[in-house]
Amino acid sequence: MSRLVVVSNRVGPIKDSGRAGGLAVALVDTLKAMGGVWFGWSGEVSDEGTFGPLQQEKQRNVLLQQIDITPADYEEFYIGYANRTLWPVLHYRLDLADFDRRFEDGYRRVNERFAARLGPEIREDDIVWVHDYHFFGLGAQLRAMDVHNPIAFFLHVPFPAPEILAALPNADALVRRMLAYDLVGFQTERDASNFRRFIIEELQGEDLGGGRVKAVGRVVHARAYPIGIDAEAYSQAAYSPDARRHIARVEKLLDGRHQIIGVDRIDYSKGLPERFRAFERLLEDYPENRGLVSLMQVAPPSRSELDAYADIRRELEGLAGHINGRFADLDWTPIRFLTRSFPRRSLAGIYRASKVGLVTPLRDGMNLVAKEYIAAQRAEDPGVLVLSRFAGAAERMTEALIVNPHSSEEVAAALQTALTMPLEERRERWQAMFDRLCVEDAKAWANTLLKDLRAAV
Ligand code: UDP
Repeated sequence: MSRLVVVSNRVGPIKDSGRAGGLAVALVDTLKAMGGVWFGWSGEVSDEGTFGPLQQEKQRNVLLQQIDITPADYEEFYIGYANRTLWPVLHYRLDLADFDRRFEDGYRRVNERFAARLGPEIREDDIVWVHDYHFFGLGAQLRAMDVHNPIAFFLHVPFPAPEILAALPNADALVRRMLAYDLVGFQTERDASNFRRFIIEELQGEDLGGGRVKAVGRVVHARAYPIGIDAEAYSQAAYSPDARRHIARVEKLLDGRHQIIGVDRIDYSKGLPERFRAFERLLEDYPENRGLVSLMQVAPPSRSELDAYADIRRELEGLAGHINGRFADLDWTPIRFLTRSFPRRSLAGIYRASKVGLVTPLRDGMNLVAKEYIAAQRAEDPGVLVLSRFAGAAERMTEALIVNPHSSEEVAAALQTALTMPLEERRERWQAMFDRLCVEDAKAWANTLLKDLRAAV
């Protein structure tokens, strides 16, 4: 049987998948089933960088292989092109994007160096699967080294409309390099169709139908493979002792009141200031909620070395202070803003104790929190999900209350609907979403993509 060789920016862990994010959980299961290699950045910076030793560790039937990068790689490839150029552009935020030739050169260099180190490790029968925006160009570099194995790519974040992506200097070269993959997967139909449109409109490509496009002599399969979670396992996690402890803590705190929950890394794509304003609007437009409904926002800081991230954290602290000062009472705090993280298992309990899940990114590839919130609910008395139309999850979670996150009026009205929704309607909406999550789970995601890759070659 052929091995699976997975490449992603960060690698593992294989053992303690309870703490890992959705990407890791889905990949770990697939890797354990097929056996294989997981290759990526060690997270360390050293003077030797990608020329340093290949750090190898066997965990069960998976070989973890990691290399360092240099301080210049870290600045130009990781902080620069990945976080300051690609991330904002892919999330439709041209106003925040930094276009710097050095970043682009650093990105190409690191893609080339990763290919140079990975290439010799690939065996004849291997299937290669590259992940995310850090490695758009890795496939083309492998092809240049005469690697003829099947290679798939999956983008975890949005692929913007060609009108947006065209603003990125050398976007056409970047997308042309993606044609080296046999199959390119996206989170949503919209993302896949944006990619095909770019090929057709900007690279004078040809639409072959069935998700296939042809350009510069290459045929690529570009389709949607919405990433899933292990919904049944996560639903069970909501009964774990850890989850129960967190349910009890929240219930004690609420003392019969209701809680709206938000869980997001602090990132401008998550629409957090807009969310706080929408909650303020709820208290203004529907004053019966004052004293009775609070918003808990769990917000672990991320990428705090970037100004845009520090700015948004300050803005949120100011907004929470303003709203709490305006509405708080002796025994009620409207917004609880927690700039820390919780293990996923504990979150299951916090979700379960919350009557409403509020997921309102301005753009998001998928948003796993939306799926986890649904998976963690009690079947007999489930909460309601309020979900941004701009989260990839909205394409398949149509029974949520779908909102435009830019409209505080609309979000406030949806929150009011959620808080007053009759039990029967809550159950119907929840059941439909939970059933679909169990079918379209993490395993199905990986299996479908890999089956299509085999069929494509
Ligand atoms: N998460 C976590 N602890 C936290 C906050 C988030 O384990 O305190 C997890 C969360 O359960 C989810 C992931 O981090 O699995 C976030 O994924 P999502 O797709 O929602 O957003 P991303 O951060 O990837 O943009």
